[in-house]
Amino acid sequence: MSLVIVGSVAFDTLETPHGRREKIVGGSCTYCSLAASFFTQPKIVAVVGEDFPEETIELFKSRGIDVRGLEIQSGKTFHWEALYGDDPNQRTTIKTELNVFENFSPQLSPDYTKAEIVFLANIDPDLQGDILSQAKHPKLVAMDTMNLWIKTKPAPLLRVLEEVNVYFANDEEIKMLAKEPNLIKAGKKLLERGPSIIVIKKGEHGALVLGKDSIFGVLAYPCEKVIDPTGAGDSFAGGFLGYLDKIKTFDDEGEIRKASVYGSVLASFAIEDFGINRFKSLSLEDIEKRFSQFKKLVSF
Ligand code: AMP
Repeated sequence: MSLVIVGSVAFDTLETPHGRREKIVGGSCTYCSLAASFFTQPKIVAVVGEDFPEETIELFKSRGIDVRGLEIQSGKTFHWEALYGDDPNQRTTIKTELNVFENFSPQLSPDYTKAEIVFLANIDPDLQGDILSQAKHPKLVAMDTMNLWIKTKPAPLLRVLEEVNVYFANDEEIKMLAKEPNLIKAGKKLLERGPSIIVIKKGEHGALVLGKDSIFGVLAYPCEKVIDPTGAGDSFAGGFLGYLDKIKTFDDEGEIRKASVYGSVLASFAIEDFGINRFKSLSLEDIEKRFSQFKKLVSF
C-alpha cells in the first residue's frame, strides 16, 4: 500500500441551489484520500491550523488513512468559498484564504518518499514540484490543478506537468493551459509535454481518458439530485489511484479503464451530499453495486 496524496485539507463555505454551508471540512487531499481509502491505505501530506476538528482526523484514521504527514500549525486552516448556480459544472470562487498553507514546506518522511504512487492534488505548483523532488523513483505520478494556478503560476505548473504520468483536469483547464479551444487538440498538445494519460473531466458529462494512441469515454452516473458538486474531481482521482494502488498495475489499458470507472463511481457518491458527508456512510458494497450499474449503462 503506497499511495501518497499531497493537497489541501480545508474549510469550505459553499452555496449550492440546495443550501449554504459555512466552514465545512473539504480540500483536495481530503476528498481524494477518503475516496482512495476504499481500496488502499493512503498517506496524506497537508497542513491544517489549530482550528481543525479532531473529529475529522479521527475519521481519517478510522478509514485507514495515514495522517503522519498532516501537520498541525498554529494559525487558521485554509479556507475556500464558492458559489454554484443551477449548472453544477459552473462555479465561482468567492474567496481563497491560504492561511497556514502560505508557509507550508513539507518534508516527506523516509517511508513517504518511497511511495509507488504520488498524487499531487490541487495546490500551489511550487509546492507540488517541491514534493515531487523528494519522492524516490515513484512508479506513477499524477497531478491535478485549477484555473487559479493556470492563471497565476503557469511556468512552475508546466514544469510539474513534464514530470507526471497522469494529469487530471477539467475541460476548461485543459483548453486554458494548452491555449487551444478544441478539447482533443488541447489534450494532445499537453500529452506531448510529458504525461502519458490525461483524464479530462467534464462534470455531469463524464470524462475522457486520453492516451497517446487511445481514447476512452466514461459516463458520469446519472444523478437526479446533485446536492454539492465540490470534490467530485478529487474523488474521481482518489477512486482511480486507489484502485491502481490496490491492483499494483500501472500501465494496463484495461485496468486504466476500470480505474476510470471507479473514479466516476466515487465522484458520483461525493456529490450526493454536502462536503464529505456521503463518505461517512459509504461502503465498498455500495461502490461495487454502482460499478456494476455503470457496466449495464454502457453495454449493448
Ligand atoms: P474539486 O471540486 O474536486 O475541484 O475540489 C474542490 C476542493 O478544492 C475544495 O474542497 C477546496 O477546499 C479545494 N481548493 C479550492 N481552491 C484551492 C486552492 N487554490 N488550492 C488548494 N485547494 C483548493
